[in-house]
Formats: sequence, C-alpha cells, structure tokens
Amino acid sequence: MNYELTDEQTMLVDSLRAFVEQEIMPYEAEADMAAEVPAEVGERIKRRAMEMGFFAANLPESVGGGGLDYTTLGLIERELGKVSYALSAFVARPTELLLACEGEQIEKYLNACVSGEKHECFALTEPGAGSDIMSMTTRAVADGDDYVINGTKHFISSPCMPDFAILFAVTGVDDTPRGERKRITAFLVDHGHPGFDMRLGSIATSQRAYRTYELHFDNCRVHKAQVLGEEGMGLELANKWLHMGRVWVGAQCCGKMQRLLDLSTEWAATRKQFGQAIGKFQGTSFKIADMATELHAADLMVMHACERADEGKMTSNDAAMAKLFASEALGRAADNAVQIFGGMGLMHELPIERMWRDARIERIWDGTSEIQRHIISRSQLRQYER
Ligand SMILES: Cc1cc2nc3c(=O)[nH]c(=O)nc-3n(C[C@H](O)[C@H](O)[C@H](O)COP(=O)(O)OP(=O)(O)OC[C@H]3O[C@@H](n4cnc5c(N)ncnc54)[C@H](O)[C@@H]3O)c2cc1C
Repeated sequence: MNYELTDEQTMLVDSLRAFVEQEIMPYEAEADMAAEVPAEVGERIKRRAMEMGFFAANLPESVGGGGLDYTTLGLIERELGKVSYALSAFVARPTELLLACEGEQIEKYLNACVSGEKHECFALTEPGAGSDIMSMTTRAVADGDDYVINGTKHFISSPCMPDFAILFAVTGVDDTPRGERKRITAFLVDHGHPGFDMRLGSIATSQRAYRTYELHFDNCRVHKAQVLGEEGMGLELANKWLHMGRVWVGAQCCGKMQRLLDLSTEWAATRKQFGQAIGKFQGTSFKIADMATELHAADLMVMHACERADEGKMTSNDAAMAKLFASEALGRAADNAVQIFGGMGLMHELPIERMWRDARIERIWDGTSEIQRHIISRSQLRQYER
C-alpha cells in the first residue's frame, strides 16, 4: 500500500480544503440552528463547486463527471466530510446508480443531475423495513405498459426538495434454492407525478439541516420506461451504491475526526488551568493520542478499501470494516473533544457540540454498526458453512 498523495491529488485536496473553509464552514451554524439550508446558500455552494470543477466529481468523464479514481474520490469525501452534510451535499455527487439510465432517461435524469439542474433522492427505507430491506412492502404491480405503485418510504434524505426519486419496490417473488425471494425493481419517479406525494419528515438531532422526506405512493401509475436498470435487479443496482457509499461514510468520518483533532489539540495547547496548558495533563493529552491513533487507523482502512475498489477487488467486508471502524472511532473522538473543551464543548458558539451530535448518525445510516458486524462476521464464518 502506498498512501503518499500524487502532486495532482495534493493540489486537489488543497483547493478543496480552501473551498470548504471559505465557501461552506461560514454557513454551518446558521443552517444547523434553522434546521435548513437557505436556498441562496445552497445555490451559491453549488455554483462555486461547478466553477471550481468539484461538481459530479464521482462520475465518469464520458457523462460529464470528474472521471476520478476511487482513491482520489476518497480524499474528496474526507475533505467534504469536515463540514455538515446538509451543505456539502450541494457539491453534488449524483448517485452512480444513474449510470444505469438508458434512452430518454439519460437526458432527463443522468445529464440533468450532472449539470445541477436536478437533484435525486434514494428511496429504499420504509417505516417497517430499515435494516431488513427484504421486508419492504412498497409494491409496483404491472398493468399493461405501466406499473401501479403503492407504499410509503421514510427517512429519505436530501439537502433540498428532490426533483425525482430512485424508488425501490417489489415487483414479484422468485423461487430460489433458499426459498422465495422478493424481486425488487428500481424506478425513476418524478416529484409531482400523480399519485406521488413527498412531505417533509422529522428533524434529526444529527445533521439537523439535512432534511428527511416521507414519500407516499397511492396508485401511482408509471410507464415501464421509468424502470431503472433491469426489472427485478434493483437490489443488485442498489448494492453497487451501498458498498461504495459505506466507504464514503468512512472517509467523511475521517474528515470529521481530523477537524475534531485539530480543534482539540489547539484548545489543549492554549487553554490554561492550574497555571498550565490542559494538554500538559495526561488526562487530556492521552485523549489526543487516542484520537490521532484511531484517525490514522481509520484513514488506512478507508484508503485500503478505495485502493481495492480501484483494482476492482473491494469486497462488502472491506467496505463494512471501513465504515464500522471509522464511524465508531468518530463517536469516541467527538466525545473526547467535548471532554477536552469542557463546558465550552457544549455551547453553540463552537462547532464541537454540533459535530458531537452529527457524529451519531454515522453509526446508523448506510447500514447500522450491527449490520456491518453481521457482514464482517459472516465473511469470517463462511469457511465453516456446509
Ligand atoms: C437522517 C437519516 C437519513 C437517512 N437517509 C436515507 C436515505 O436517503 N435513503 C434511505 O433509503 N434510507 C435513509 N435512511 C435510513 C437508514 O439507512 C436507516 O435508518 C438504517 O438503515 C437503519 O434502519 P432503521 O432506522 O429502520 O433501524 P432498524 O432496522 O429498526 O434497527 C434498529 C436497531 O436494531 C438493530 N438491528 C436490526 N436488525 C438487526 C440484526 N439483524 N442484528 C442485529 N441488530 C439488528 C439495528 O442495528 C439498530 O440498532 C436515513 C436515516 C436517517 C436517520
């Protein structure tokens, strides 16, 4: 493994870091307090990201994206991870699932997201189907050239009202050697399409300004041309996003840990009690040592997963380990940071309390820590299965 950055990567990281500090950080506190990103702020971040060439960096050049490798994308996610997701999401990285668009879908959905004209949401989770995706009940029943969709999705997040949903629904049941298995299909459904209602959901404690939506489908009739990818292959399509998405969560957690470590180190070196800097007390300095060590380990795991992805060898296990370790290490780092800052760590004036709150979601979305442990333990035990 060689994690020395190339000259191009160093330049990219430096310019993105400056962008994040100048164009995003100043708006974090305001967006968090208001639990929404003011429209003009979101638009400005989007426009500046386009001017700087950061927009749609994750997609291939052939569709107008940045054409970057996974390792470089990991570095981008790490820098963007330093700030609230509600704001960094305006530096759009449209989901790779859109690469499955065909025919007229390409212009209407893929190109529109790459150009910033439209914004998608990824609608998998339901009130009764969270970790257990296969218990989903949203159905799309074939009727001539159409599908009729009924069901509800929740916790579908987006920095602003999405223009369309990539919706996952059950389109049938297959017999497999392990018994019956639901056929799940992905659909592209426009906001405002008859029978499709999208409502603002609850405000989360973490990432308060990154809003969640409830999606209601009531006899929503869509043409079969709205199927994304192949009928019945929705989960296979989703998995492409889910695995890499977990590595990006890991990379973002590393960015947050770096920011917490930098802020905590400076505070420990300058805040004085009992006549000396609190960093001179081992109770404080050892926390910094733990934060630095765990950040280093998390960075190595994330970069390892990215490198494996670039070689086409990344497994679900690599992604699960990177997400599990980085998100849990972030939780410990955020708690340590609050402790190092003392009472000031809980005050709105500083970003520490917000980062502590924001850190909590990382162990839940994109698969909870328990689900990651399932994936990892299954891969360990598989060799003994008969
Ligand atoms: C702010 C926010 C944004 C989100 N954005 C999106 C989005 O854009 N699109 C989308 O589709 N989803 C989204 N989600 C949903 C997210 O992915 C789910 O919340 C997550 O997968 C967990 O599902 P759940 O909340 O229903 O918890 P549950 O699945 O009900 O889990 C509750 C607890 O039970 C545990 N548990 C469940 N099953 C097992 C098991 N087999 N073994 C051990 N423990 C288990 C879990 O680990 C957890 O601790 C978002 C969620 C939030 C909070």
